[in-house]
Amino acid sequence: MIEIKTFYFNELRECCYIVWDQTKECVIIDPGCQTDNELGRLDTFMRDNLLKPVKILLTHGHFDHVMGLENVATKWDLPIYMHLNDMDQIKRAVQYCAMFGWEIKEITHEITGIKDGETITFGASKLKVLHTPGHTQGGVCFYNKEQKVLFSGDTLFEGSIGRTDHPGGNYDQLMDSIYKKLRGLPLDTQVLPGHGEPTTIGTELKSNPFLQPY
Ligand SMILES: [Zn+2]
Repeated sequence: MIEIKTFYFNELRECCYIVWDQTKECVIIDPGCQTDNELGRLDTFMRDNLLKPVKILLTHGHFDHVMGLENVATKWDLPIYMHLNDMDQIKRAVQYCAMFGWEIKEITHEITGIKDGETITFGASKLKVLHTPGHTQGGVCFYNKEQKVLFSGDTLFEGSIGRTDHPGGNYDQLMDSIYKKLRGLPLDTQVLPGHGEPTTIGTELKSNPFLQPY
């Protein structure tokens, strides 16, 4: 039985998710914590709930999702998992933040590549990797089949989809990803996106303007 805590981090209010089960092992999805205060909130939550972080999972390599990556990986000595098509995004994230004077540490930890269909485990739980390129080339969603929960990154939002006008973005490819990988999920699948509020697959198929049949 997985449990989930949402943190909204940095100026872009990126959603960082902590996912754990009865074993108390947890994964940290998209550690976008920018300040010491945000990192402190994450630390306090781990301590208060006696959680043991075991992995960092990235839905993609955009700066707002990886601002705390180096700090979090170092603090808990965690392996990092991401689709390797986003390695250029990680490099760009550091340059981009420097340009705006935002704090981000150069990523020195090794990043392990993940592929479509792969299963990531923690505690007694599983998350399946769904490669959903289009917002970025290495964009993925993480799906827990047992409890029907989808961490959709910046692929699918409540009432919207990820933007495709940044480097690595491709609108047709994003729509293709959503139709091929997400549309067939159970309608009551909870969707936890990279920004904004939670939704469900059924709600989005019914009312998301980007997903309506022509
Ligand atoms: Zn993004």
